[in-house]
Amino acid sequence: MSIPSTWQLDHIGIAVSSLNTALKQYEILLGTQHYGREHVHSQGVEVAFLDTSNARIELLAPLSLDSSVAKFINKRGEGMHHTAFLVNDIQSELDRLSALGWDLIHRQPISGAHGKWVAFLHPKSAHAVLIELCAYKK
Ligand code: ZN
Repeated sequence: MSIPSTWQLDHIGIAVSSLNTALKQYEILLGTQHYGREHVHSQGVEVAFLDTSNARIELLAPLSLDSSVAKFINKRGEGMHHTAFLVNDIQSELDRLSALGWDLIHRQPISGAHGKWVAFLHPKSAHAVLIELCAYKK
């Protein structure tokens, strides 16, 4: 019998060129207003969130041409950027995955949106999906 995962789907990140344009469209789609719009300087992006009943959508737009999201959009266009999971202890999850040979972009969490800790796993370890781990700061 498998042990239930403690990970929770937190949000899907979507890279967009214009946050204003994308927010209008996604507010119509989901029938809700966005919240938590803020600059996340550690990642060179402006973000805003929209709730669904069981997870959130994060729209992220680059703040500068050299941000990783700007490079992503230049290379692939707008679209699905990352999938984020909420975990209890982000450092112990990073240590666990590192010990298993996973390719981590961050070996230690950095400060993310809304005062959470975040860390990214390299897409090559997760079948081409960029995975974000996030955790509440304790
Ligand atoms: Zn995210």
